[in-house]
Amino acid sequence: MNKFLLLLLLSLSAQSNELVFKGIEETEDEIINIEFKLDKVSYINSYNLKNPSRLVYEVNQSTIENPINEIYNYPIKKIRASKDENKTRIVIDLYDSVYWWKPTQKQIDDDVLVSLKLKKDKNLAISTRDIVVAIDAGHGGKYPGAVGPNNILEKDVTLLIAKELERTLRDTDGYQPVMIRSGDETISLNDRYQNARKLGADIFISIHADGFRLSSVKGASVFIWSEEASSTVARNLSEKQRKRIQADIKNLKPSDFNEDLARELYPDIYKDKISQSKKLGTKILDQLKRDPYTKIHKKDVEFADFRVLKSIDIPSVLVESGFITNPEDAERLKGKPGRRMIARSIFLGVHNYFLENPINGTMVENNNEFLSYKIQKGDVLSEIAIRFGVSVESINENNKLNNKPIYPGQIIKIYI
Ligand SMILES: [Zn+2]
Repeated sequence: MNKFLLLLLLSLSAQSNELVFKGIEETEDEIINIEFKLDKVSYINSYNLKNPSRLVYEVNQSTIENPINEIYNYPIKKIRASKDENKTRIVIDLYDSVYWWKPTQKQIDDDVLVSLKLKKDKNLAISTRDIVVAIDAGHGGKYPGAVGPNNILEKDVTLLIAKELERTLRDTDGYQPVMIRSGDETISLNDRYQNARKLGADIFISIHADGFRLSSVKGASVFIWSEEASSTVARNLSEKQRKRIQADIKNLKPSDFNEDLARELYPDIYKDKISQSKKLGTKILDQLKRDPYTKIHKKDVEFADFRVLKSIDIPSVLVESGFITNPEDAERLKGKPGRRMIARSIFLGVHNYFLENPINGTMVENNNEFLSYKIQKGDVLSEIAIRFGVSVESINENNKLNNKPIYPGQIIKIYI
């Protein structure tokens, strides 16, 4: 992009996104919710610092007319917001460490409501937040995706794997899953990555099951997005496909985040995102290779034009869990054990990725020895063991269970 044009776009986008302080709410469960309004969704960078303890949120390409300097009750000392070049910086000064959430951006009428949440937590030595994993079950609603033998539909398989993954992440300390769809809904490709940003996702996992005209083709593969692959694919598109994509891009709402412009504005962040996506994809693929049920289609992470993966800063991968058009793969994906193995490989891949590439201030950074899993109603040890790829004996031993029954709410340590 031409430099002049870029500067123009930059100044335009900065002018039009004003941050306004809305107020503070406290919920019954002692969560403090600090709200701001924006004109449109922004790329927000958030982190926590110690000595003195504070949370920082950088709202890129935004302005603020009236700087904020609000004193508030414990555990907050003060909320400040002021302009810093082309971004607005919000700082929450704290008396103590807190449990906090990544900011979310919710569309309300013509505005975007930015929500910064935190909660006091006496047990924390350092402010901590969960890693937010966006789970995108491919297709849905009026788009069934690939169709396998006996009318098995890709959209159903992807949702079931997504739910399995959601469950493991939800009950494991340090992770927060967010579902891009949790039912049989039609969601546009644009909305999928837009929603991941609005929900504050740290990573984005799209789950699919391939289809091919030759039923002999089988196995799982992992993809990340590349501009190069994208332009190659674009050249080979049919007129009809091209029109559909153009229409979809036009359908971006004014309040949506413009990933294409952002890629020009933050080339280094985008470059880093691609390399992180590759690391994440490789970790997931490594786990899929170990799964005795699953065959591998391609042994390396592949690059492709999957638009859902195009976010500039959220490492994004697409997992093809197998070929639904292949009888063996279809049989595997039709049953719970087969789907569970895919969810497990994704979970372990994600966890291994964060162990090697920890995010500042998350549980995985502060404690990387074991996972804390909260027992749910109906859980049995043998199933938990399968979900984490460990043995029942090791769970028994590490938790000194002595074969006593487990109960809902009990926290057990899992050493991966
Ligand atoms: Zn698909």
